[in-house]
Amino acid sequence: MHTQLADAVRTIPDFPEPGIQFKDITPILADARLLRAAVNGLAAEWQSEGITKVIGIESRGFILGAMLADELNAGFIPVRKQGKLPFTTVRESYELEYGTDTIEMHIDAVSESDRVLIHDDVIATGGTAAATHRLTEFAGASVVGFSFLIELAFLDGRSRLPEGSHVHSLLSY
Ligand code: AMP
Repeated sequence: MHTQLADAVRTIPDFPEPGIQFKDITPILADARLLRAAVNGLAAEWQSEGITKVIGIESRGFILGAMLADELNAGFIPVRKQGKLPFTTVRESYELEYGTDTIEMHIDAVSESDRVLIHDDVIATGGTAAATHRLTEFAGASVVGFSFLIELAFLDGRSRLPEGSHVHSLLSY
């Protein structure tokens, strides 16, 4: 099943800009059996960790993140780009290759008793996941680990996450 999942990921060269090999997960999402296998594979790593909230990163992290939360009997929290969330937010900025980006979370989304899992579809440079970690800890909750469907291992994004972090990715390139 692992091979079938890997085979279903579609690599689109030069999207959204030249030089990027975009990992398109929509063929997995569109296939009921592969979708179920992806969610089961992601959830298996965290079943005994007492996760209370799964944070999904905008926007592709919302899809499997919400399904993962359901599978783990946890709540789901969206982390969004600046200006999208309606209530009071906490925010964090991080460096991109050119310029900076800002993400936000509702101020009351997590509490000190929460055990949080951070999810995104792809970890590339790790900048977004690292900023989400800072945001979550700032909001007072503990981060138990990071979950990704796909890790672009050649970019070594995990080295940008806090040392000793529990990082799980189902597929690695
Ligand atoms: P990062 O460089 O790890 O901060 O990634 C930034 C965001 O862009 C994450 O939400 C990733 O899901 C997405 N992303 C980065 N590179 C790719 C790629 N090659 N294919 C698909 N999504 C990507």
